[in-house]
Amino acid sequence: MQTTKFFLKDKDVPKKWYNLAADLPTPLLPPLGPDGKPITPDMLKPVFPENLIEQEVSTKRWIDIPEEILEILYRWRPTPLRRAIYLEKYLKTPARIYYKDESVSPAGSHKTNTSIPQAWYNKKFGIKKLTTETGAGQWGCALAFACQLVGLECKVYMVRVSFEQKPMRKTMMQVWGAKCLASPSEFTQAGRDILKKMPDTPGSLGIAISEAVEDAVSDKTGQTRYSLGSVLNHVLLHQTIIGLEAKKQLAIAKEKKVDVVIGCAGGGSNFGGIAFPFAYDKIHGKKITIIPVESASCPKMTRGKFSYDFGDVSGMTPLLAMMTLGHQFIPAPIHAGGLRYHAMAPLVSQGIVEGLLTPKAYDQAQAYEAALLWAKTEGFICAPETSHAIACVIDEAKKAKAEGKQKVILFNYSGHGLMDLVGYDKYLSGQLKGYCLPEDELIDTLKTLEGFPKANARKTGKW
Ligand SMILES: *Cc1c(COP(=O)(O)O)cnc(C)c1O
Repeated sequence: MQTTKFFLKDKDVPKKWYNLAADLPTPLLPPLGPDGKPITPDMLKPVFPENLIEQEVSTKRWIDIPEEILEILYRWRPTPLRRAIYLEKYLKTPARIYYKDESVSPAGSHKTNTSIPQAWYNKKFGIKKLTTETGAGQWGCALAFACQLVGLECKVYMVRVSFEQKPMRKTMMQVWGAKCLASPSEFTQAGRDILKKMPDTPGSLGIAISEAVEDAVSDKTGQTRYSLGSVLNHVLLHQTIIGLEAKKQLAIAKEKKVDVVIGCAGGGSNFGGIAFPFAYDKIHGKKITIIPVESASCPKMTRGKFSYDFGDVSGMTPLLAMMTLGHQFIPAPIHAGGLRYHAMAPLVSQGIVEGLLTPKAYDQAQAYEAALLWAKTEGFICAPETSHAIACVIDEAKKAKAEGKQKVILFNYSGHGLMDLVGYDKYLSGQLKGYCLPEDELIDTLKTLEGFPKANARKTGKW
């Protein structure tokens, strides 16, 4: 019998998060304000509580996880490390494929790893209510769940196309006591402006972020803050618990090295979570291929530009240096809603510029094909975002076979797909085709970045 599951004890859950900002060979470029000057942490205070701002700008390598947060994470952490032996057999690959199963969290994805700490730090700071946006609904669910446990109100702006495609996600948020609205909505100036210009818009994460930020900063009592499910440094920090656990579990599986680390990347949080502890090893001399995988319909890493850009459509956020398609980009309504964000986390973006990370893109048809092979061999039904990572895993396993190498491949199984069956249904009935962003649309959208402050793409040239 071959072992397919590698468990840790509760006491082995990491007690510190890992901060890649401490080790990046070329440091992050600073966020800029509307005047093009670096922003000060003070300027973020209407949006985020000070304890999270402190984490956002920290360059400390290890940051303690408060005991009360660990107590909540123990409900589902440590998550299993599994080995995909049935997929390996099917592919006849000499590669050993391992994955961290983040689908076991109450909300069904990795996102609870940061929603819990974010809600907890806000509560500790005296905040009463959080607003946020959600794409596929995963983040909205994760934050609703966290607010329920920690004792905060929660209001979620959900991208319209997903609100319509995934109504059950809204119900989950309501079960956890949150309010959920379709975005663009009539409740904010940002929403009303977009609806006037584009009444039939499917919405986008960029629009929903504008609405949620506006809602938070316009609360005159000062007791509302905004919460973001990905992209920002502190969010990726919270997710590193995944990769840190994986390292301990690979040791239990008697693996001495990892050759390839893979994660799908929408804003970069589940990818950063599994990959950054291994990026640390790569920075310190290990040979590891680290691949963030995006959707070919929203190809900011493989075809976008490294530039300063806003995080949201109406330009309410600071300017961040990142791989981007331009903040006004509205991606095609693909089913992997979590991959429909116009830009990539600054930490991941700088890792790409430096050459530590090597991104790839897959289209929706390739992704569903991979998801079906996964279900046929391993049995589990994965989230449409996760299927992009699996498509890449399959390619890497085939490559190992062609090269005759016993590689160790690790990927992050970011969530289950049991709430995403509409997409599977469309694929099975032949209604979903592969879609890549056409070149002319790419050129047009990148033009919107003209006139933004230049982001200097610095690298050491070591990788
Ligand atoms: C949100 C989500 C993603 C993409 O978001 P990241 O910030 O890149 O992690 C990927 N997979 C699942 C299941 C998600 O819910």
